[in-house]
Amino acid sequence: MTEISSDLSDHPISINALKVVRRLIESGFQAFLVGGCVRDLLLDATPKDFDVATDAHPEDVRDIFRNSRLVGRRFRIAHVRFGREIIEVATFRAANDAADNDSQVSDGGMLLSDNNYGTFREDAERRDFTINALYYDPEHKIIHDEVGGLTDLENRQIRLIGDPESRFREDPVRMLRAVRFKAKLGFSVAPETEKPMRRLGFLLQDVPAARLFEEVLKLTMTGYGERALEHLREYDLFGWLFPQSNRDPDHHQTFELIRLALASTDTRIQEDKPVTPAFIFAALLWHPFTNERQRLIDEGATVSDASFEAANNVIAQQLLFTSIPRRFSGPMRDIWFLQYRLPNRAGKKAETLMAHKRFRAAYDFLILREESGERLDNLGKWWTEYQEANNDQRQTMTTAAPKSKTRKRNRRKRRRPDSQ
Ligand code: ATP
Ligand code: MG
Repeated sequence: MTEISSDLSDHPISINALKVVRRLIESGFQAFLVGGCVRDLLLDATPKDFDVATDAHPEDVRDIFRNSRLVGRRFRIAHVRFGREIIEVATFRAANDAADNDSQVSDGGMLLSDNNYGTFREDAERRDFTINALYYDPEHKIIHDEVGGLTDLENRQIRLIGDPESRFREDPVRMLRAVRFKAKLGFSVAPETEKPMRRLGFLLQDVPAARLFEEVLKLTMTGYGERALEHLREYDLFGWLFPQSNRDPDHHQTFELIRLALASTDTRIQEDKPVTPAFIFAALLWHPFTNERQRLIDEGATVSDASFEAANNVIAQQLLFTSIPRRFSGPMRDIWFLQYRLPNRAGKKAETLMAHKRFRAAYDFLILREESGERLDNLGKWWTEYQEANNDQRQTMTTAAPKSKTRKRNRRKRRRPDSQ
């Protein structure tokens, strides 16, 4: 065991996490801060949350902390709650050995259950990357490094512990985690770790759609989505998450729209503005949606039926890969359907549209579509000016609108109303 004395007490460590560690030690157990929080503290970053590893079993932890409950089946852990902060306490685990633990591993070598308690060393070895397997003992101010995590942290390397291919097979989500940490930390992926990644994307097909949705959120909604997209594509993983977008014939425009949506989300997160997965998913699936809509129109569907059905079809296809909870797919549809109403501005329509609860998102989306290269007759500019205009100017704009080129389009639209 490598022990390095290291005093992190002037770093931003959660007082509650320290309390949990101390109580466990006082109760006769071992306890350490572990994982992302130690990594981030050593990088002088503020950890998102704090994880504790211990030799106490989940039931012991529950008995020690009245403010705790046990969660998870595949991976049973205790949540100790302090107001809004939750400290996750996990018992040391051993890696499941496919050879003598058949029932817990799928045919492809994937871990189905991970409640096999183990020693401290085994716990370090079953973690994903070396930089995520550092243990900090705040009582004695010591870092335990079993797997060379400190060297990799110094060299800014993301290295899978153990044999990369079997570790990826065991849990294919680790490929997405490699991408995430590369994007988040700006580290490089160690060559041996990186090598099998382009080949093994297909393994993501075996991961439950709900888990992939969670990973997509972490990739896209935590402030470095633009870089995450770049690396997903670099390792040929994007197509295993969003196959419809990946095989879109308008490849360039599709990815440009997604990139812009992620970049704008990154900026909003930096500025502490609200963000929603509905907007990101609207961008991710916009081109598959419009292509499908056009296909249905070409087959003779009315525009409103085509919109509705295209949305259903594209969402149904996507659900085979990542789930999209209804609370996000609903607003996503609104953003899509509003795109076909935004050209309709004459008379009172502009005011009605502006009052729509999804207008702002739809307008932002329109601007990104134009930026990505869709030609929309300066519709975005019109809406920008309209929002900045006073009442008189607005009146002129909406009565002037029918005289412009858009008028013809509006008329045509009126004959084929698309209320979606
Ligand atoms: P973040 O800062 O994004 O929270 P993190 O490293 O803390 O990053 P978590 O998902 O919170 O990531 O996981 C906590 C720790 O659990 C990781 O640091 C790692 O040691 C371990 N871990 C998480 N997921 C896996 C996995 N799929 N395989 C092996 N170990 C994992
Ligand atoms: Mg974490």
